[in-house]
Amino acid sequence: MNNQELNENMYDVAVELLSKNHSLNYRTKGMSMYPTLRPGDKAIVEKCEAGKCKRGDIVVFRQDNKLICHRIIKSDFRWGELSILTKGDNCRKADKPFTSDSLLGIVRVFERDGKQRSFDDNRHRISKFIYQNLPKSGLIYNRMHQLASRVFSSVTSLKRNFPMVIQNSEKLFWINAIISVLQGIFPFITLILIKFLIDVLTKQNESLNIWLLLTATAASYIFTAILNELKTYYFEKISQSVSKNIYQKLHQRHGTLPLSHYENPEQQDKIHRAVQEASYRPLKIVNAVLNGIKSVSSSAILLFLFVFIRWYLIFILIAAVLPGMISRIYFSQKNYRLKKDQSQREREMYYYNRILTGIPFAKELKLFSFMHYFLNRFRKVQNRLFEERLGLRRLEMRFGIASQIFAVILIFVSLAVVAFLSLNGMLSIGTLVMFFFAFQRGYSVLNEFFRAFTQIAEDNIFLQDFSEFIENEKFEKNIQPTESFILTKGISIRNLNFSYVNSTREALHNINLEIPAGQSVALVGANGSGKTTLIKLLCGFYQAGSGQILFDNKNANDIGQEGICRNISAVFQDFALYNIPAIENLYLGDFSKEFNEEKAREAAKTAGVDEVLSNLAQGYKTMLGNLFKGGEELSVGQWQKIAIARAIYRDAPLLLFDEPSSALDATSEQEILAKLREFSRGKTTIIISHRLSSVQWADKICVLDKGTIVEEGTHEQLIEQRGKYYQLYSASKSNGSK
Ligand code: ADP
Repeated sequence: MNNQELNENMYDVAVELLSKNHSLNYRTKGMSMYPTLRPGDKAIVEKCEAGKCKRGDIVVFRQDNKLICHRIIKSDFRWGELSILTKGDNCRKADKPFTSDSLLGIVRVFERDGKQRSFDDNRHRISKFIYQNLPKSGLIYNRMHQLASRVFSSVTSLKRNFPMVIQNSEKLFWINAIISVLQGIFPFITLILIKFLIDVLTKQNESLNIWLLLTATAASYIFTAILNELKTYYFEKISQSVSKNIYQKLHQRHGTLPLSHYENPEQQDKIHRAVQEASYRPLKIVNAVLNGIKSVSSSAILLFLFVFIRWYLIFILIAAVLPGMISRIYFSQKNYRLKKDQSQREREMYYYNRILTGIPFAKELKLFSFMHYFLNRFRKVQNRLFEERLGLRRLEMRFGIASQIFAVILIFVSLAVVAFLSLNGMLSIGTLVMFFFAFQRGYSVLNEFFRAFTQIAEDNIFLQDFSEFIENEKFEKNIQPTESFILTKGISIRNLNFSYVNSTREALHNINLEIPAGQSVALVGANGSGKTTLIKLLCGFYQAGSGQILFDNKNANDIGQEGICRNISAVFQDFALYNIPAIENLYLGDFSKEFNEEKAREAAKTAGVDEVLSNLAQGYKTMLGNLFKGGEELSVGQWQKIAIARAIYRDAPLLLFDEPSSALDATSEQEILAKLREFSRGKTTIIISHRLSSVQWADKICVLDKGTIVEEGTHEQLIEQRGKYYQLYSASKSNGSK
């Protein structure tokens, strides 16, 4: 039995078995009951009366149809009923008390690694003793253990992720590291020189040459200043190099991301975090690692100084910074959890911001005056996000103040020790001055060290997300392509079913369609009948739930999305607008070959946009759109013609047109559709158009309804059938859309 969902029957059987003095095995999950029980242990559960259970006992009880294994921290009689308060060791909040009825039994023995262990060995006795007598310290022990394991896992995942950050910048990293080491050492060398200078001046040391000391001190100051300048320059260099590398990885990853990822909210959260964090986290982590290196070198020389003065003072110094470090590690985890929880709301806020500030929404925003609606939504989400963040900062501030006060007290204790030693003539004035400065610097060095350390731990959690996004194979749904095709035979769609990941409905159901090479098929049907979905599947953007798509008898899955798209030219309903020069807008259609201007102009002519482009200020070289200086904005219809020209320029064997004329006026539409018909002659073509009269020429017309092909044939055959197509056609005629 384990802690999965239970039904009444199973529970009753378990109770029955226990009442007959049988025992049950319970497989633990999570971090439950550390250090006594660990994940995967098999706990042997025996019957136990609720009234006889003591604090520290580990019991199994039922909560919301699950079996939970927890340790008792308190038993209470409330309103005449026994109420037992328990706590899972890794549980952050106190669990709900459970009643005696929900108690299944007690754990006295368990199995780990195939060996039976009882709670009688010393380790478990101690753990039970701690819980029975010092429940708070038991929890502290567990917290410390969790903290240590977090630190350990941070270090191991940093070892894995850091090389990815500094890839191609390794040399720069080492230059920065050497500068950091020197920066860590030199302030202390200056301090030592000043100590000797004071000793010479106060005549406590007469063996050293004052001029030599003065020159060395000045040189040390100059060198420190040079190091600072070098650091600024080389850090900028590594920052740029790391940024280039990270953005390259990010953009390459986006290029290979399946389309379904952009439609799944969870994946969108991941993408959002990766994109957002990519701009600064990697640099922060490089900075933190360099600061860590600097403070390690400072600490080494500091250790030497303290051994020279009084060795035990170093422990006071470490004790002073320890609480601050613990609280930072603790809060770094909390920060991450908060950020993760907030991902969706953050995206929501950015979305409202885009509506309130983006050009595509500006017209409707003014026309319908719904600015306040989105303003309110934006503010609501923003307030919630900010309040949550502030709440955490407040808590962090309280912990911070407490640890700083603790540190100051310890610093004064050590100052008192040194003052006492000096008053008794046990330390020279130079050493005293050196100590004051060394202690002050030492405090900030150690603080910096732990800050760097916790910063690394914090950034590393985010980096983990990023590297998962960049490298994780589990995202890769596309199988490595093993086949290619040039479409000489045709396309076969067999028993195809498909549902979107975020939907339970079938968008396509049992589609069977044969498209011989060189023939044209028109897909018609009401909105939402599955036409675009079929086109997207043909592009390889999604994989079929079941059934097959075959290009020249080769399975689409074996060809892969890239391989399929190489042979496709398409115009989508939601075509994109690129704010780049007109000529390059066409060239985007076939980047794999040298640019052919003649072919581009020909494509523009076929799409009916040649005249528009030629008449722009700088002709085909004019920047399109109004995002950048010198750009010229076009109408939506003209943009659509450019999208068509781009597809024509590509000149692939398979043409897919999804409402290619939706934004065109009636005359342009007729013209373009006629030209597309001409252009697609001899090429395999699939076209979707709401204007049924313009696709009559197709060799085959398929009528889709609720994801299924309900009719297929030529225009004449379908009209004769007097079915769905006839209805659609008659309706479009009476609407005057002919
Ligand atoms: P058509 O092109 O015929 O208008 P679509 O193929 O766009 O229809 O849509 C078919 C069905 O799939 C519709 O019910 C629609 O709600 C659903 N759908 C379309 N795109 C998505 C998507 N990205 N995620 C979930 N469901 C979708």
